[in-house]
Amino acid sequence: MTQTIRKIALFAAFTLFQLLPAFHLFLSPVVSVVGAFRGILVASLLTYGFLALVSLFLGRAFCGWFCPGAAVQECCTNLGARRLEGKRKYWSKYVVFGLWAAVVLIGVLHARGFHQVDLRFGTAGGGATRSFLFRYGAFLIVVPPAFLIGSWTTCHYLCWIAPLMIFGSRLSRRAGLPSLRVAADPGKCRRCTLCSRTCPMSLNVQEMVLAGAMRSDECILCGHCISVCPSRAVRFAFGPRLAGPRSTWPPPPAKRRSSGWNSVQP
Ligand code: SF4
Ligand code: SF4
Repeated sequence: MTQTIRKIALFAAFTLFQLLPAFHLFLSPVVSVVGAFRGILVASLLTYGFLALVSLFLGRAFCGWFCPGAAVQECCTNLGARRLEGKRKYWSKYVVFGLWAAVVLIGVLHARGFHQVDLRFGTAGGGATRSFLFRYGAFLIVVPPAFLIGSWTTCHYLCWIAPLMIFGSRLSRRAGLPSLRVAADPGKCRRCTLCSRTCPMSLNVQEMVLAGAMRSDECILCGHCISVCPSRAVRFAFGPRLAGPRSTWPPPPAKRRSSGWNSVQP
């Protein structure tokens, strides 16, 4: 049921992206750069700010549930794109994000700040080439890497939006804010590896469950591992995340007070 709802949400996001050119404005990194140099606060910069804010409470759920690119990734996985094997470092997306953020900052300084807000900026002008890139750009940056390198490669290595949400999640954890996460009960695990084989982000979920270390910057909270687990050893949880790597469920028993009015021991 969870995966059906998720697929409907992804399909809706993808359909909107294809049918409404204006929808591109809310995700385009190029429009935000051009707008910054003209001192215009555009729709995509506001969207990125909104996603960073939401990630404080929902982590990378946008990636798993609402991103049009994720809908294409899901199709690639279903069509046979193979998993990314081995432990990998996905630092390149932080470089992409850093470069993009630096250019936006230079643009804002160059324009001496924002002078207006224009949510429709970027719709005027252009031509067949731009229309083609808007409509099919997502396919070009997602599909070839998925089949040549591995499933969800673009999300791991290239996505400039993912770091924003990863920073938001880390900030949330440090601040002790309640947030959506995947929690595990290692005692229930049957070591069947189903969760690891199903995870679209190629995480070794079984290892994480058994180690009680469910925190991962790459988890997009898609819930695949939860849907396939035969012993309900993993589940969604909402609450403050622990500062360390451990995110186990059930939580350790609370310490009992040894003295005081309301804590008379039998
Ligand atoms: S760990 Fe579970 S929720 Fe996170 S990306 Fe993998 S399958 Fe999805
Ligand atoms: S699917 Fe469930 S039981 Fe199987 S390895 Fe993963 S957590 Fe353990």
